Amino acid sequence: MLIIRSAEVLCEGDVREIDVLLGGGRILAMAAGLDSASGLPGIQVIDGSQLIALPGFVDSHVHICGGGGEGGFSTRTPEIKLTDLTTAGVTTVVGCLGTDGVTRSLDGLYAKAGALQAEGINSYILTGNYRIPPITFTGSILRDMVLMDKVLGVGEVAISDHRSSQPTYEEFCRLAADVRVGAMLSGKSGVINVHLGDGVRMMALIEAVVNETEIPVRHFLPTHMNRNPELFEKAIAFGRSGGYVDFTTSTVPQFIEDGEVAADEAMDRCLKAGVPSDRICFSSDAQGSLPLYDKAGELHGMTVGKPSSLYEAVRRAVERGVPLETAVSAITSNPARVLGLGHVGRLAPGMAADVVLVHRDTLEIVYVIARGQVMVCEGEPVVKDAF
Ligand code: ZN
Repeated sequence: MLIIRSAEVLCEGDVREIDVLLGGGRILAMAAGLDSASGLPGIQVIDGSQLIALPGFVDSHVHICGGGGEGGFSTRTPEIKLTDLTTAGVTTVVGCLGTDGVTRSLDGLYAKAGALQAEGINSYILTGNYRIPPITFTGSILRDMVLMDKVLGVGEVAISDHRSSQPTYEEFCRLAADVRVGAMLSGKSGVINVHLGDGVRMMALIEAVVNETEIPVRHFLPTHMNRNPELFEKAIAFGRSGGYVDFTTSTVPQFIEDGEVAADEAMDRCLKAGVPSDRICFSSDAQGSLPLYDKAGELHGMTVGKPSSLYEAVRRAVERGVPLETAVSAITSNPARVLGLGHVGRLAPGMAADVVLVHRDTLEIVYVIARGQVMVCEGEPVVKDAF
């Protein structure tokens, strides 16, 4: 058991200084005066008097077993490490494949998610990859969703991109229908994580399915919606009409110069344009490959997206004047709701004991607790993977 003493907790616009009691991987109680139990043997105590308690972060789009490969074998990116996630405050991760569904497999994705779960955080996966027909475990998306607990939906399915399989309306529609029925039969929320490319068709396929079929809009989580100004305008319209929009936080300066809307700016502009705050999500796209350019604009290497970009974008949104509670919902309660993960993304008794404690003045991450276990202490990882 663990008590966080006198931490600030943001709760529906209210800031309260309370104690948080964790035990058995759950939040047991949140109230003032719980610290009277802190003298009991075996109870670990964290002094929260300089800290704000936030829910553990949820990253809905991470290439956990590596991605990339779009420049040949040598550009395949490495697997993520547990501590890359935990030091970034991420306590729930959703792994997905990307462009490469040949040298990367769903089996490998599943195993990596299993490793992260065993190492102490919550992990899930999406079946399929960029292409339709999708690669699957069992022969269909529907069966994968019903028979495999870890599969929350499909993704990332690419549209309006030269790297997509150029899916037709019928193909895309059938894929969405599989997720819809898979969600119902499995009792899951059912997410269709759609990679948007730079193509001029933009969201046309999603709009067509939403407008012409009975499939509810809530299943769609279109991502990279901040990649160019035109697509970002579509994100505002989609968000205002009730859809979820996901902004990618990993970036390089060249992308921003070329017109990408930084995730923090995207959030600020969405809120000002009337997009409900509970429709806005961030994801890191970590381990996706990113090009590096020199000052002359010449490509000189590659790097990978990082989970740390997720919370950095939240801090920048706060610097822009977005309330912390609103900004942080893009990496906590909002993705948890889309993904149908009712036990994470909020701080309340009964929820998973996933807590990120940040400094009240600097908002730096100080402690990260996942499933009741301290993973990061004073900013340093204390639980590490086997290697
Ligand atoms: Zn993508």
